[in-house]
Amino acid sequence: MVREALQALADGKLQPVQGIARPVKLLREAPGEPVRLLGLMPKPEAAALAAALYPYAADSLEGLVQRVEAMPESERARLAQTVLGERGDHDPPDRSLEHTAFTFEIVLDQGAYFELKRHRMMTQSAQRLTTRLGHCVPRLISEAGLEPAYREAMAMAAQAFDELVAWNPDVASYLVPNAFLRRVAVTMNLREAFHFCELRSAPNAHFSIRRIALRMAEVLQQAVPGLGNYLRLPIDANWRKMEEEHFTQVG
Ligand SMILES: Cc1cc2nc3c(=O)[nH]c(=O)nc-3n(C[C@H](O)[C@H](O)[C@H](O)COP(=O)(O)OP(=O)(O)OC[C@H]3O[C@@H](n4cnc5c(N)ncnc54)[C@H](O)[C@@H]3O)c2cc1C
Repeated sequence: MVREALQALADGKLQPVQGIARPVKLLREAPGEPVRLLGLMPKPEAAALAAALYPYAADSLEGLVQRVEAMPESERARLAQTVLGERGDHDPPDRSLEHTAFTFEIVLDQGAYFELKRHRMMTQSAQRLTTRLGHCVPRLISEAGLEPAYREAMAMAAQAFDELVAWNPDVASYLVPNAFLRRVAVTMNLREAFHFCELRSAPNAHFSIRRIALRMAEVLQQAVPGLGNYLRLPIDANWRKMEEEHFTQVG
């Protein structure tokens, strides 16, 4: 019942209850960015650094956050270096990074999603499989001379999906090949974000999830540069390069 009611609200088919719930407008278009930072708690970097000092201090956590915020840049950098700079090859980042929260919206192909969903230290909400966000064309398919046949197969799947989806979207999702994109909202702390980005950007990881992990790493480095710059990423790897090398088309 809850599922049906939420579907109706999402489709704008139910009246809001006493003005509390409002129908959510469905967004159909794929954003250009594979990873967008939709939200983060206030002052995540100061919160993590304050949490690192907390066990050794007598101040309240709030007081420590204020102390960290008032620090000159060099002192703050020294603190970040102490927290993350001495990590051994197999050491996870300090647990103080868990006192943060980031929400991302990720648009990725179903193949890459199979890898994302293994990470249970983050909260994930996936939308249904669809053909409406477009599909990837791996470069290897093009190089093998199979692109026309591949595109024809994707178009046939999309057409069949369109014919079935209004009748039953769950049944229609069976027709969606792994190359099609889907949208997922994920919320995680910075420790998990480090773990995910480092593990999934590694050269032996699949190129489709590497593209996502590298883009997420870049977004984090912009959002929390003092800590984000301690992410261990493969030298010379970036998400755009991954796109160019491995895809003829992404979405
Ligand atoms: C190249 C590669 C090859 C792989 N090959 C295989 C394979 O052959 N077979 C297979 O089954 N799987 C394989 N996997 C998948 C992998 O083994 C895991 O299933 C996947 O990475 C998810 O597990 P995780 O432990 O990373 O989970 P996550 O949910 O991401 O988290 C585990 C991490 O969370 C940390 N943690 C604990 N508490 C917290 C907290 N409160 N906040 C934040 N972090 C916390 C822990 O330190 C741990 O490092 C492969 C993965 C890669 C990248």
